[in-house]
Amino acid sequence: AKAMGRNRHEFFTQNLQAEIISHKRTADELLAGIERQEFVTWYQPQFDAVTTELTGVEALVRWQHPHHGILAPDRFLKIAEDLNVTSLLDHIVLETVLRDKQRWAQMGLHVPKVSVNVSSRRLHDQSLVEVLTNLDIPPNQISFELVESIFLDEHEDIAATNLEQIKALGIDIEIDDFGTGHTSIVSLLKLKPKRLKIDRQLVMPILHSPQERALVRSIIEIARSLGVETVAEGVETMQHAALLRELGCDLLQGYAFARPLPFNDFTTMALANWTR
Ligand code: C2E
Ligand code: CA
Ligand code: CA
Repeated sequence: AKAMGRNRHEFFTQNLQAEIISHKRTADELLAGIERQEFVTWYQPQFDAVTTELTGVEALVRWQHPHHGILAPDRFLKIAEDLNVTSLLDHIVLETVLRDKQRWAQMGLHVPKVSVNVSSRRLHDQSLVEVLTNLDIPPNQISFELVESIFLDEHEDIAATNLEQIKALGIDIEIDDFGTGHTSIVSLLKLKPKRLKIDRQLVMPILHSPQERALVRSIIEIARSLGVETVAEGVETMQHAALLRELGCDLLQGYAFARPLPFNDFTTMALANWTR
């Protein structure tokens, strides 16, 4: 039994070592990838639930890995956080978005609004507002998607100050993943966002579950009474889209319409199908 115990111990140690080495390798690759500009921005469209017009896009980061192909954020965001480079990635995405917006304008494609995800780290960055001011962001065309947990931590005051100044720069605020985690109606009142995005965990079951349907209906009603627009995420079928429209949801985003697409594919699709 003793020998087995030792073996098991060795087994765990070896596993742990392998994990640490692999984590370290990914971390090194990630930093090199940033240097080599392997991080790219993909776009997923959002549509008006009633008129079906293209109202905007969400920018989503992807890692164009030299060996593993396109990697979604779940493969690297955690490591990026550990390395303290999420703010840098957010910044790279925002710069790309501003460039891509100009390219769309030159091509005659009107994309009313681009939403970018902003990590909690970045929102707490003392230099954020200065950086944003230097970027010359066109007013009322960019919005920041923030997760609610941002407003519950101990550095809430820095985030709050930043938020006021971000709004003053003409950047809209959206609450992301609403309805999960530490949801509070209070954060809606405090933050006065332009929009809230109803989490796909709530959206996906609405066809079959009366509970989620009632919850989504209430969220939409509350938002509406506060003058806040609603976006449903994870709209996977046209049945979902129809029901959400019936429930009064303003904007729809999901695989029923399109997956996130690289710049060229998005632009082609948008010019052919989503604009008139
Ligand atoms: P999120 O902000 O909730 O983004 C929506 C996610 O849902 C995206 O995953 C999108 O591809 C996926 N999605 C869209 N429609 C559907 C659908 O109909 N069904 C299903 N099942 N999924 C759908 P993605 O691109 O893998 O991003 C995952 C998360 O990574 C994002 O969740 C966001 O939290 C984070 N993220 C993405 N880009 C950035 C970024 O530039 N900066 C930061 N800080 N975080 C980012
Ligand atoms: Ca988001
Ligand atoms: Ca979300």
